[in-house]
Amino acid sequence: MADLFETIISLSKRRGFIFQSSEIYGGLAAAYDYGPLGVELKRKVSDRWWKAMVYGHDNIEGVDASIFMHPMVWKASGHVDAFNDPMIDDRVSKKRYRADQLIEGHIARLEKKGEDDAAARVHAALVEALNADEAPKALYDLIVAEEIRSPDSGAFDWTEVRQFNLMFETQIGALADGENTIYLRPETAQGIFVNFHNVRETGRLQVPFGIAQIGKAFRNEIVARQFIFRMREFEQMEMQYFVKPGEQMEAYEAWSQKRLDWHVANGIRPSKLRWHQHEKLAHYADAAQDIQFEFPFGWNEIEGIHSRTDFDLSAHQEYAGKKMEYFDPQTQERYIPYVVETSAGLDRTILMLLCHAYREEEVGGDKRTVLKFNPELAPYTVAIFPLVKKEGMPEKAHAIEADLRGQFNVYYDEKGAVGRRYRRQDEIGTPFCITVDGQTMEDDTVTIRDRDTMAQDRIPAENIQHYIADRIEQWTPEA
Ligand code: ATP
Repeated sequence: MADLFETIISLSKRRGFIFQSSEIYGGLAAAYDYGPLGVELKRKVSDRWWKAMVYGHDNIEGVDASIFMHPMVWKASGHVDAFNDPMIDDRVSKKRYRADQLIEGHIARLEKKGEDDAAARVHAALVEALNADEAPKALYDLIVAEEIRSPDSGAFDWTEVRQFNLMFETQIGALADGENTIYLRPETAQGIFVNFHNVRETGRLQVPFGIAQIGKAFRNEIVARQFIFRMREFEQMEMQYFVKPGEQMEAYEAWSQKRLDWHVANGIRPSKLRWHQHEKLAHYADAAQDIQFEFPFGWNEIEGIHSRTDFDLSAHQEYAGKKMEYFDPQTQERYIPYVVETSAGLDRTILMLLCHAYREEEVGGDKRTVLKFNPELAPYTVAIFPLVKKEGMPEKAHAIEADLRGQFNVYYDEKGAVGRRYRRQDEIGTPFCITVDGQTMEDDTVTIRDRDTMAQDRIPAENIQHYIADRIEQWTPEA
């Protein structure tokens, strides 16, 4: 399974989806760049999210808040005091780990061995430790009691567990003194909370309503492995939905279902998705669950649905000294709204789509690698090939290409055997390949090949746009 993941990482690089950041300098850990195909996929996914959330609801508006915010924001939000992860070092290898993840790994191994009772017992102990007043000590004691060894060195020589704040600090302005210290935002949500009144008033919105945002967030993760799954700079797609206190659970259930449905509509098989309840609720939440996907390296979170109560708005009211209340014109009540948030990682969604789409198939004794993306998300929608580089075929193919460019992202290729050209497109997930051949020059028909079935239809060139649009609309993911 680990090999499969390596194969996907190497395909991503080889075909221009994702590169290591600053690669010519040896790379920077946990930072990645999207290449020509990756950026297409990312734009299509974020557009789809925006359409579903903002255009799809008459009571949701968007914002694009700045990454730098007043430092008091992070004091009020609790991030300065509580946005910590427990870290522990292996004295032998000098490698650093997240203490809770070491224990989760141990639980997963017990489950794999069929020792379900032991796994349940350790899981209960983990929940207790995470919620203990002295969580670092409780986690350390559990690691020692379970004799959990270092995954890399096999040693059992741990330092104590310490809390580590994940926020990046930087200085603003010319003077580098404490007064000027600000943070790179660790979540996009606060840019929404501080704009609560601005958006509500200008959008003439009434509770319940939502504010959506897509943007970068930064976390100085203790362990950042697994490619774009855990990065130090990443993108979130978040929506905060403001409701009347008491109505949050209804909104929480409804948004949980809607968000799961969105991933399924993107083509993810439901059997690859599951819910995971939080072991420890964040300092602001009264309910929280994650959507997990079965990655080649195991089940992991891609999106969280959190009921954040009135924690954030109340805290900003207190710290900023500005009223964050809402006046309900119907009932004449005044209250601080409760918030249900849907928080998806854009990069993790991309990684999920890549892992889900990746297939190796046997075709006539050969191996074919294919990315079976939802055609709406595929970086290129259509590729166009002249069968040979003569007899007017390239000119005809270019004419069709020019026609299609207004509507789709098109790839033109005239090099090499046509079979090889098909394989190259399969590998990057292009759902349709059009070939201009001798018959095209006689009757103006082309062949159009389906990525998934490899079947070819011959259709009039003038019907190509309709044909593709229909096929995209009819597409359903494989069972
Ligand atoms: P994890 O437990 O994996 O660290 P989290 O529970 O801290 O994640 P949230 O704070 O709920 O994550 O953030 C919402 C979403 O942002 C996550 O579901 C994930 O998709 C994304 N995300 C969070 N941290 C990272 C990261 N370091 N790299 C990439 N995406 C991330």
